[in-house]
Amino acid sequence: DVTIHGVSKSYGYLKVLDNVTLSIPAGSVTTILGQSGSGKSTLLRSINHLERVDEGFIAIDGELIGYRQDGETLYELKEKDILKRRVEVGMVFQSFNLFPHLTVLENVIEAPITVRRIPKEQAEAEARDLLARVGLADKAQAYPRQLSGGQQQRVAIARALALKPKVLLFDEPTSALDPELVNEVLDVIKELARSGTTLIIVTHEIGFAREVSDLVVFMEQGRILETGTPEKVFNRPEHPRTAEFLAKVL
Ligand code: ATP
Ligand code: MG
Repeated sequence: DVTIHGVSKSYGYLKVLDNVTLSIPAGSVTTILGQSGSGKSTLLRSINHLERVDEGFIAIDGELIGYRQDGETLYELKEKDILKRRVEVGMVFQSFNLFPHLTVLENVIEAPITVRRIPKEQAEAEARDLLARVGLADKAQAYPRQLSGGQQQRVAIARALALKPKVLLFDEPTSALDPELVNEVLDVIKELARSGTTLIIVTHEIGFAREVSDLVVFMEQGRILETGTPEKVFNRPEHPRTAEFLAKVL
């Protein structure tokens, strides 16, 4: 599970995360909604320790992200150890960030070989399974530029899965896609959700969030204003600001 406890972060005088506390069970799907600038990406990036939080802590299966604890004191881990733990948290971005000079297969096996030290043959076999899972078995030898945006994003998902992360984070995975390509990516994410992968997804796709989420989180100005089942948050929001936001996006 993922535990986020009392997390705050500021950029100068701007408090971007304000005492965020959230508990995410293993195998569940959490979607994070909120207006632009509400701190959604910063929260995701903190889970990956791409951002350092000022207060509070984040732990995955009881292991602190980015820190080790000695008595009462937290010490930041060395870069090398941060990287080791970051492997446990996969991340898929809005822009697919594939390596342009590598084939699809090479993109997927790169990290398992260099980071996890998995033998090439094994990495390739696993990569082919993953590519089949995202519907791209026939694209292993293609280069990213030869693929549509939706296909590239599915490669990015396969690449993230190749490290066998405990948690997979998605930051607006379909925002950069043409409308007709959105569903092929959402379908892959739905399949992951069904298979019990722990997912945390920032999205503006409300219909998708309603369908796939165990937990919906609504953020505003760095705070969590409301959490609950989709049934509750979408049909009976407690907070007037949630209702206002939903009225705008639905
Ligand atoms: P969007 O929906 O537009 O992606 P978001 O909810 O993901 O927004 P964040 O990217 O987390 O929002 O940003 C939260 C706030 O922090 C914003 O006001 C943003 O301008 C600010 N911010 C983010 N990164 C930095 C940075 N590196 N330096 C200064 N301010 C930053
Ligand atoms: Mg964002």
